[in-house]
Amino acid sequence: MPRTKFVAGNWKMHGSLAGNLALLSAVRAGAAGLKAQMAVCVPYPYLAQAQSVLAGSNVAWGAQDISEHIQGAYTGEVSGTMLSDFGCRYVIIGHSERRSYYGDTDAVVAAKFAASLKAGLTPILCVGETLTERDANITAQVVTRQLDAVIASSGVAALERAVVAYEPVWAIGTGKTATPAQAQEVHALIRARIAAESAHVAAGLQILYGGSVKSANAKELFGQPDIDGGLIGGASLVADDFLGICVAG
Ligand code: PEP
Repeated sequence: MPRTKFVAGNWKMHGSLAGNLALLSAVRAGAAGLKAQMAVCVPYPYLAQAQSVLAGSNVAWGAQDISEHIQGAYTGEVSGTMLSDFGCRYVIIGHSERRSYYGDTDAVVAAKFAASLKAGLTPILCVGETLTERDANITAQVVTRQLDAVIASSGVAALERAVVAYEPVWAIGTGKTATPAQAQEVHALIRARIAAESAHVAAGLQILYGGSVKSANAKELFGQPDIDGGLIGGASLVADDFLGICVAG
């Protein structure tokens, strides 16, 4: 069975109540009839707004992070059950900005991954190397280490209920996209690593590419055999740009 293409937006810390209404409404209208699976991951305060504008459409919504805890004295944190209360389907886990600015280690990422599954959410697990790591020829090692932390803690079968996003850190928000061949090489490596544990899970897993995807480069990237769509940052903040990428899916 061919895998459905999936395009997910990551708004990061952008948006306002007034601006979001126009953006979400335009995405909802433009997405009607498109065949890709689509979602937008918005900042926590805007989840209720995303739910109210997108409910009943073919665009799902989600969050950009989650607490590894279920509930308790964790000031500032948001649990998976809270995200589910707002109809979230997806949650981004281990984005490179969380890993590098907020101390999300492989162990924390694995715990957040498990917490999202426990809450019935679909984690979008981000993995990817920095430029220094790529230049040192350790991309495969880094990506494998990040994946293995999750497999060791949740088991390979958990990936049946997850999405993986390969996001080379050097391509995020920089305008520098990995070439389709560079991205495909790492996507194939990710799928092979998972196939070593379970061929069935590997065959069904959606692996998204993220890093300066635009409507101009989406078609060629998404045309690679192991690229099943994209995780989109900057371009998800402009409805026509995001929809232009969704059309390629
Ligand atoms: C991201 O934030 O996950 C991302 C890929 O950003 P951009 O598309 O802006 O590179």
